[in-house]
Amino acid sequence: MNAPVIPGLNPPLPIGNIFCIGRNYSEHAREMQQQVPEQPMVFLKPSSSIVFDNGIIELPPQSNEVHHEVELVVALGKGGKNILESQALEHVAGYGIGIDVTARDIQQRAKERSHPWTVAKGFDTFAPISRFLPADKVPDPQSLYLKLNVNSEIRQSGHTKDMIFPVATLIAYLSTVFTLRPGDLIFTGTPEGVSAIKHGDVVRATLGDQLLNLTVTVNGS
Ligand code: MN
Repeated sequence: MNAPVIPGLNPPLPIGNIFCIGRNYSEHAREMQQQVPEQPMVFLKPSSSIVFDNGIIELPPQSNEVHHEVELVVALGKGGKNILESQALEHVAGYGIGIDVTARDIQQRAKERSHPWTVAKGFDTFAPISRFLPADKVPDPQSLYLKLNVNSEIRQSGHTKDMIFPVATLIAYLSTVFTLRPGDLIFTGTPEGVSAIKHGDVVRATLGDQLLNLTVTVNGS
């Protein structure tokens, strides 16, 4: 199967690597009883975990505790290595909202064993993403509200100004390790308020003042 295309962007960009940043908001690090990191904490999701607006999060039978993490998602339009922070935002094609779906019980066991998070973060449908707004419609990625509702209840409400490492820093840092490519996505970390989702829940993530919405339904036992 060919890589799916990032929705909303022209020219169309097939989805590349999916980089994710852990603990990028200090209140969330605190609720997870983790220290605030000194440099960005990076993990990857597989492209098979992507699902689009109006899609379904499938709860895997291997987990009894699946959490939502609402995040600003950055789509790169231009790649590079050792990108300067001062030029990093010129590499962005667009911004979307996504959910870093996490099997928290599996992640907890992995942490205890010092194992990677790939399974906890990487099940099919564990990376829902919205349509993307072209970068020129978002003058400042650090001035956006993030909100997540489960059914009628607000579970997460944050603001990108509270990121420990802003988007430009993340791009510059990632590019010191990885050659970044057009179509790569960056999940930029979640504010506090993560909690469990269950079968039948309707999860709705919102970026800015109704700039973008993402709605997904939860399926499974
Ligand atoms: Mn996350």
